[in-house]
Amino acid sequence: TRTHDEEDLPHATKKTMADHLRKYESAFTLTPQRMRMIVEAFKETLEVGLDKPGQIVPMIPTFVFGWPTGEEKGEFLAVDLGGTNLRVCLVTVQGDGKFEITQSKYRLTEEQKQDDGQKLFDFCAECLKTFIDTSLTEHGGLHLAAGEKIPLGFTFSYPCSQDRIDHGVLIRWTKGFGATNTEGHDVAAMFRQSLEKYDVPVGLEALINDTTGTLIASHYVNPKTKIAVIFGTGCNAAYMEHVKDIPKLQPLGIDGGDMAINCEWGAFDSFEHEHLPRTKYDIIVDQTSNKPGEQAFEKLISGRYLGEILRLVICELIDEGVLFLGQNTYKLESPYVFETAFLSLMESDPTEELLMIIGIFSHFFAVETTLAERQFFRALAKLIGRRAARLSACGIAAIVSKMGYLEEGCLVGADGSLYNKYPGFADRVHEGLVDIFGDKGRNIVTHHAEDGSGVGSAIIAAMTKRRKDAGIY
Ligand code: BGC
Ligand code: MG
Repeated sequence: TRTHDEEDLPHATKKTMADHLRKYESAFTLTPQRMRMIVEAFKETLEVGLDKPGQIVPMIPTFVFGWPTGEEKGEFLAVDLGGTNLRVCLVTVQGDGKFEITQSKYRLTEEQKQDDGQKLFDFCAECLKTFIDTSLTEHGGLHLAAGEKIPLGFTFSYPCSQDRIDHGVLIRWTKGFGATNTEGHDVAAMFRQSLEKYDVPVGLEALINDTTGTLIASHYVNPKTKIAVIFGTGCNAAYMEHVKDIPKLQPLGIDGGDMAINCEWGAFDSFEHEHLPRTKYDIIVDQTSNKPGEQAFEKLISGRYLGEILRLVICELIDEGVLFLGQNTYKLESPYVFETAFLSLMESDPTEELLMIIGIFSHFFAVETTLAERQFFRALAKLIGRRAARLSACGIAAIVSKMGYLEEGCLVGADGSLYNKYPGFADRVHEGLVDIFGDKGRNIVTHHAEDGSGVGSAIIAAMTKRRKDAGIY
């Protein structure tokens, strides 16, 4: 690649790019004061969700009753239908915070995400069958008596309303999914139908959300964990609530104890858009999505959207004649071509010339960049990534403050590609917590969680089995 001298391209001199940057800085920056206002509104929203059914942030009771004891044991299968992949696992829970896992991953196609829902579950069942028949046989196989069924935990990471643990009605698809005939249906029943069709020897014991699984799995290995958050293709949190503080459960007459709540906080500020600062790029992302108005909080934070936000800023500057004058920029003009992984790469480029950024733009988009442009892109990635982390801190702070965890402190189990791979994401969440709470914010510490969708799901299946065996069901 040819690199230009700055003088070659007067439209992209250091000064003009720096000027542009200032404009975006003010659009994407969150002051501590603004963050505290968001936390207050967030807290109220969480409370309303616990109070009445059917709220925008639904605060879903999961029917996971309290923490695992550590005594849970056994062999469990787990199916994890997340935002990007399908994963099937065999988890051996050994007690004392120990477990073993064997797994296979399958990529979901864009078509499968939009096609008929039953077909999607058929695919899950088929993959599970292949896994049992092939991979597991290589690992010594499963030791099943005739007619015996292996208990299965199904991690289905979309909002489902539950009134017991082994069923759940899909409230709405998120993360760009749109499979038909599924919203408003019991997805556990749909999956059971597929499992029967393919004659898979499993019994679906528990339908869980990835956040709930993460909460339980993280607590299993570290009991200081009180909250779990996923920062992946989507964004959401779960925590353990006192049943007495979930007024909408009163009709069920469950007495006392705790229950995990899947917040579905990605829906915060949906439709009304009164609390979160949205830029015009965020509004375009929303309007052009398959679900305009929905998942307002998630659309500012999660891995599915950050790259797209940055791409929209770049496109604006192309239209204004600021960037890539005289170059063919069509490759940058399709929605979602700019992956969030590129933001991570741009932020972590260690070279002075920003060689990785040269590579991204020339290799994937066939355009050449000046150093000033590359510095601008990197700074822009930082603004967008930092805003996502600080908004996440607001959500965590809302739960912490609602539950009164600030004084004694707590751990937050976190998982997902953004948390695991985006450089500095965790540090920025921690900085955000200090901006909100002052020094005490340091009492709240995120850590990389145990695999919630696999291990967590297995532990929950084990907890459910114990309850059933004890007749508390
Ligand atoms: C879904 C949640 C899920 C989160 C992380 C969101 O889009 O609504 O159920 O926990 O993504 O996977
Ligand atoms: Mg996942």
